[in-house]
Amino acid sequence: MRYTLALVLLLVLSNAMAQPRIMIKLDDLGSRNGRSSAAPVIDILMQRKIKAGLGVIAAQLDSTAGIAYSKYLAARNDKGEKLFEIWNHGFNHSNNNPPANNMEFKGTGYDFQKGHLAKAQARVKQLLGITMRTFGSPYNASDSVTNTVIKEQGDIKVFLFGSFKTDEIPRVKNYNNRVEMEITTGQVNYDHFVADYQKYKGRYKDNMVLQGHPNMWDAARIAEFNKILDFLIAQKCEFVLPYDYYLSTK
Ligand SMILES: [Zn+2]
Repeated sequence: MRYTLALVLLLVLSNAMAQPRIMIKLDDLGSRNGRSSAAPVIDILMQRKIKAGLGVIAAQLDSTAGIAYSKYLAARNDKGEKLFEIWNHGFNHSNNNPPANNMEFKGTGYDFQKGHLAKAQARVKQLLGITMRTFGSPYNASDSVTNTVIKEQGDIKVFLFGSFKTDEIPRVKNYNNRVEMEITTGQVNYDHFVADYQKYKGRYKDNMVLQGHPNMWDAARIAEFNKILDFLIAQKCEFVLPYDYYLSTK
């Protein structure tokens, strides 16, 4: 009886002390000549066995994408879990579309958005052999039409930084607990991140989404990113992939 009580207390305590799950959201990836545009950063994550979501722009994957990404798709941690999830970051990341220089998924209309979503899914399926389950729009710009085409498409289960209330689209989750690693696009900064983490840790108890643009990171920025990873590991945070996390919460 006493042991049962102690066990219950321990479980309650450990649950209360649990850290938010961390989803790393890396944007704007492509490939050229058998190499990912963000290879230096993804290679570090692979070496450190840290999970991350890789957001690809389908049209910026060349015909050698399979060579560039197959080692990442095969990568596992010590528990045998996948290290990387490749997700849909648009077909071409354009921002010069009718009617008024619109971004790819905002104000561009139903046919355009449905086509671009489908073309991105198809190209990645063809080049990498996978069905993407997560979507994050270029510039994080989307509208109600995006929500409709995501709902109709059916394979996408997670929207990162979407514009709808979660549960508004059946079977699709919107993860919006944004914590910043970058001061401005590409400018990773450890102190900036820690301040933002402390600010939101009381509010985002379940999960946090950390966005980065690794194509733009030089050695100094990569060093800041490594410090952020060290910090999160010291906090005993668990890194998760968006679709795995979605499945774990169902
Ligand atoms: Zn982007």
